[in-house]
Amino acid sequence: MHQSVSVTDSSLSIRGLQLSFGAVQVLHDVSMEIGRGEFIVLLGGSGSGKSTILNCIAGLLDVSDGQIFINGRNVTWEEPKDRGIGMVFQSYALYPQMTVRGNLAFGLKNAKLPKDEIARRIDRAARILQIEDYLDRKPGALSGGQRQRVAIGRALVRDVDLFLFDEPLSNLDAKLRAELRVEIKRLHEKLGNTMVYVTHDQIEAMTLASRIALLRHGVIQQFDTPDEIYRRPVNLYVAGFIGSPS
Ligand code: ADP
Ligand code: MG
Repeated sequence: MHQSVSVTDSSLSIRGLQLSFGAVQVLHDVSMEIGRGEFIVLLGGSGSGKSTILNCIAGLLDVSDGQIFINGRNVTWEEPKDRGIGMVFQSYALYPQMTVRGNLAFGLKNAKLPKDEIARRIDRAARILQIEDYLDRKPGALSGGQRQRVAIGRALVRDVDLFLFDEPLSNLDAKLRAELRVEIKRLHEKLGNTMVYVTHDQIEAMTLASRIALLRHGVIQQFDTPDEIYRRPVNLYVAGFIGSPS
């Protein structure tokens, strides 16, 4: 089954992306058309270029060549804050001196949103992520899983169409990872927004993705549904990566 995406439905379009660090080229002609509401997983081993692609989408890295469109708008040279994205990193990057509520409110205060709107969005995110009871605590008093929920909450309150996750569960133990994986899936079903999710874990990829882009050395090997990629891998590398236990 091949999912074709018309340009008007395109949530994120990456066209001919190239990126070099000095003389070393790490992304080679990466192109993807991603439809509204898709859950895209960028899967690959360490150093395959997953985070680099995500950082280009977020505007944290300048591309060497190529273009990025979000909701049909060319954002290639836009500031990160103007791109309408929420990003969640592996390290929670919470402000330790602020409460959970303060952490959730921080970006919104900077965006000069009215107080009652900020409160409304925090209440909603806290309810969805089940962190209502921790709102007045500081991150130091939370477990790893709770902190990562807060980090997801910080993206959620921004009320954006496009979420970027960079290995958000890698720092958690296996039990929590499995638990949060289910919650992220529910979150996506509830919000219906577009997700681009980076992981090196094929189980995460197979359970979460509507489509998987498997990367090696900055080249997309295959971009397909989990079922297709599992049943019809295009080369031995894909077959080995998807078939091998983590
Ligand atoms: P992944 O997220 O898949 O583990 P990355 O996107 O972080 O991989 O890295 C892709 C390649 O780019 C790697 O070879 C890495 O060493 C290189 N790289 C990443 N960031 C930099 C940088 N700031 N300077 C030079 N090389 C980098
Ligand atoms: Mg990475």
